[in-house]
Amino acid sequence: MPSRKALVCTCEDVTRLDLDDAIAAGFRDVESVKRYTGLGTGPCQGKSCLVSAMDHLARAAMLPESAQAPFRTRTPAVPTRLAELAGITPPPLTPIPPLVDPSGPHPLCSKEPLPERMDVVIIGGGIMGLALAYQLARRGHREVLVLERGYLLEGASGRNGGGVRAQWSTPTFIELAKESLKACADFARELGVNVWFRRGGYLFLARDEAAAKQLGKAALLHHAHGLRTRLIEPKEAADLVDGLDPKGVVAASFNPDDGVVFPWPFVWGYADGARKRGVRIEPFTRVTGIEVAGGRARAVETDRGRVATDRVVIAAGAWSPAVALLAGVKLPNEPKRHEICVAEPLKPFLDPLIAELDNGLYFSQSARGELVGGMGDPDEPPGLNQRSTLRFLSRYSRALLRVMPGLGALKIIRQWAGLYDVTPDHSPVLGETPGVAGLLQMSGFVGHGFMMAPAVARRMAAWMDGEKDELFTRFTLQRFAEGKLEKEAMIIG
Ligand SMILES: Cc1cc2nc3c(=O)[nH]c(=O)nc-3n(C[C@H](O)[C@H](O)[C@H](O)COP(=O)(O)OP(=O)(O)OC[C@H]3O[C@@H](n4cnc5c(N)ncnc54)[C@H](O)[C@@H]3O)c2cc1C
Repeated sequence: MPSRKALVCTCEDVTRLDLDDAIAAGFRDVESVKRYTGLGTGPCQGKSCLVSAMDHLARAAMLPESAQAPFRTRTPAVPTRLAELAGITPPPLTPIPPLVDPSGPHPLCSKEPLPERMDVVIIGGGIMGLALAYQLARRGHREVLVLERGYLLEGASGRNGGGVRAQWSTPTFIELAKESLKACADFARELGVNVWFRRGGYLFLARDEAAAKQLGKAALLHHAHGLRTRLIEPKEAADLVDGLDPKGVVAASFNPDDGVVFPWPFVWGYADGARKRGVRIEPFTRVTGIEVAGGRARAVETDRGRVATDRVVIAAGAWSPAVALLAGVKLPNEPKRHEICVAEPLKPFLDPLIAELDNGLYFSQSARGELVGGMGDPDEPPGLNQRSTLRFLSRYSRALLRVMPGLGALKIIRQWAGLYDVTPDHSPVLGETPGVAGLLQMSGFVGHGFMMAPAVARRMAAWMDGEKDELFTRFTLQRFAEGKLEKEAMIIG
């Protein structure tokens, strides 16, 4: 019997004892254990730890054979220098066949029966669903059920860049983000979890006149809302960041109070906070139907049975259109893949998150020293595609080296992809559904839902308790039919 102190993952110093801690905390599947311990997230990408980790989980967590699936090891196969990747001509995008949902209960779902009735059923255990559940519980609701078809970080909430900024182009987004920034700062005190909130600011760069104009217009609005945004010269941007090449940059804006968090503990913090206050969270439970009768939502069907309820919240991120269709409701949202990657750690050298408004490049340095960054692709078609591509690595490396030419020898160690939940005006869909009373919408957060969740969830819980709030009259599904779009312009990616 190997010692419990024996290393399982040598890249990230994860021992058998750490795996046992994860099991004791309620995690059994390897994807959750990976996220709880850091297992397999280092340079070898799980190649040296996967088998022993699975072996240990199979025995110590009594995993059924059908659940002994390996976690998805990430490309690139070996750490690869940015300069090499930038030297590759980006290959074209290739279509992938549509995914087919598995049928029958997940092997890791709870064996306890689901409750027959709950006051509120939330579909989706991402940041939105869990933050809402937590806020409802804080207000005294005890009959709240969250249904998640996978593990708790399965969706975009477990795959994002953790950027939190108040630099937006509309008053509502600025105010929501201000509240969320405060929530990030208070998170450890309120929920007892360190989310590694680091306020190094957001530095926006513009390379053409249209983007420069946008930064100037937004800065005026920021000042009116009390933000410390400064429009700065490209030369000053280069003074702020060692190694930044200001060539081609025509304008920049900097708000020192923006920052980044580590997304995983953020999600767990809300899940723990909700559970402690009586919320029932059921991972590995897929919603397969929404019962509507007499113009109102009556129940949800799952692969584990039916739960009657008067209020169903659709918080299923990029899957929300598919979930809404279960009730016969069409959402205008489209899922779009967004790719992201991590480079090997460096000594801390980069304070702000840097974002380019023109091409959607962004990158920041994590608390572990890794460079984390992504970039949208204008040619990306809508679809539920979460595969990684060489095309992204090549495009990203080119764009990154244009800003930071000295990083050519830095190696990318891991890439992955998630889904943006994109609405026609880049603003969310919130509130009641015309024609189906009790069916509530909470989706369409594009590439900024993580940072909006604390504020939106708090306000949605209050609104569900009867408090008036313009968010739920302005950002309704109805606005698309009426042509009253709420256009947000400072979108990255
Ligand atoms: C690569 C990337 C980078 C990003 N960077 C940032 C950033 O820096 N800052 C920021 O604020 N935002 C960022 N975002 C956006 C942010 O991650 C999302 O807006 C946010 O996580 C959305 O949360 P959600 O709870 O709505 O959706 P999700 O986290 O996707 O959760 C929805 C959940 O619903 C579940 N579900 C789907 N169908 C069903 C069903 N039938 N039954 C039960 N459950 C179901 C899914 O499994 C999923 O877990 C980024 C996104 C991506 C992909």
